[in-house]
Formats: sequence, C-alpha cells, structure tokens
Amino acid sequence: MASNGISKPFYMKNLRNREQWIALVALYRHRCVSCFKRLGWRKLTVDHVVPEHLGGADAIDNIQPLCNPCNAGKFRKTTDYRGDFEKRWSMLRK
Ligand SMILES: [Zn+2]
Repeated sequence: MASNGISKPFYMKNLRNREQWIALVALYRHRCVSCFKRLGWRKLTVDHVVPEHLGGADAIDNIQPLCNPCNAGKFRKTTDYRGDFEKRWSMLRK
C-alpha cells in the first residue's frame, strides 16, 4: 500500500480494527505508552512500531498508542514502548 500520509488511521478503516484499537488502548490504561498521558482512544494516535515505509504491517500487533507530541517526536524512529510499559508504569506509581 502506498504510504502517502493521508490514509485513514488504522481504527477508521473498519469496525474490527476499531474494536482492536479500543481494546489495545484499554490494555495500556488509556494512556500514551511513552509518557503515560491519559487520553483515551479518540485522542491517542496510532503509531506503527515498525513504520509502514520500512515494511511494518498495518496490524494491531505492530501498533502502539502514543499522544501527539510523542508520536511527532518519535518521527521515523523505531521505538517499541510496549514491552516494558507495565514495569515503567508500576515504577512511576511507587
Ligand atoms: Zn506521550
């Protein structure tokens, strides 16, 4: 698929994607996985862990929720925040 930057967000494409996205956001406590800002699924942005232009799939297992500033700051880097989310989150609350 062409990466022209104007394609619909993952969760706008169909109902199944939307359900997957909402479940993913709930899994990460409705927060940005980088800075923990609580936003909810409508305001969090879809970040492809492996960017689509590097061959990453537009699929839920390649997606993490980021807030706008974190997504903009990440730009084209490949940073997977998902693995240690719970660990970082529990440290933050101590
Ligand atoms: Zn953030």
